[in-house]
Amino acid sequence: MSETLLSVRDLSVEFRTRHGIVPVLRGISFDLAPGEMLGIVGESGSGKSVTAYSVMGLLEASARVTGGQALFGGRDLLRLGQGALNQLRGAEMSIVFQNPRTALNPIRPVGAQIADVIARHDPAPAAIIEARVLEALRQMRIAEPERRASAYPFELSGGMCQRIGIAMALACSPKLLIADEPTTGLDVTTQAAVMDLFRDAVRARGVGSVLITHDLALASEYCDRIVVMQTGQVVEDAPVAALFARPRHAYTRKLLRSTP
Ligand code: ADP
Ligand code: MG
Repeated sequence: MSETLLSVRDLSVEFRTRHGIVPVLRGISFDLAPGEMLGIVGESGSGKSVTAYSVMGLLEASARVTGGQALFGGRDLLRLGQGALNQLRGAEMSIVFQNPRTALNPIRPVGAQIADVIARHDPAPAAIIEARVLEALRQMRIAEPERRASAYPFELSGGMCQRIGIAMALACSPKLLIADEPTTGLDVTTQAAVMDLFRDAVRARGVGSVLITHDLALASEYCDRIVVMQTGQVVEDAPVAALFARPRHAYTRKLLRSTP
């Protein structure tokens, strides 16, 4: 049996709403190996973000985990306290949000924000941290990193902000990175550029990553394996080639028909 970085077993989540209790995840299971890129694909509302937030300890107060496990480094993330989860997030695991501005402080230069993450993870003299910030920006192929580091988020394009978001997520040297629709708001050319950088960065560092997207074509281009979700359940879990050659579920076949 190969080693597993993250093992999600029978994850069930419900929301408390004005209309009562609504189950949104109904027994989600998948495994992620170290260094693997896993795609989670499904239409809007299928429960992809709630899955990511459950693992990352970012569920809102109206959500409740009603069952399951998320094993990561010998711990069950679903049973850790908020303090321990906050500490793990920004040390061993991190997330890239759909809207990069969600992760960025609007009133602090982006370089200083990356420096904060590095300093929290690995305190070092300011000059060394500054050099690491510039290195992180260069890895994201950001030209003129000194100038960009002093920019505020509002001064940067969406694609540039997302590159900063990825640099920030990687700044703590995580073992696990979940990217939730990281390129959905971007135009097609920028999307490919950002995804190439994302892939190169996680591959170079051996980070296990989950790419969440509604776009099967995108997931199949970048991921090793794909989990297909529909209405809070996993309906298929297969390596990309097998998924395309032998889709087992009717919903997967439907997705494949609408994928170029
Ligand atoms: P996806 O990311 O796949 O588009 P989500 O994980 O955001 O889907 O949502 C899954 C389901 O959970 C949806 O049906 C959505 O309506 C529901 N949901 C998400 N957030 C809340 C909330 N705060 N309150 C009630 N229902 C929610
Ligand atoms: Mg979502």
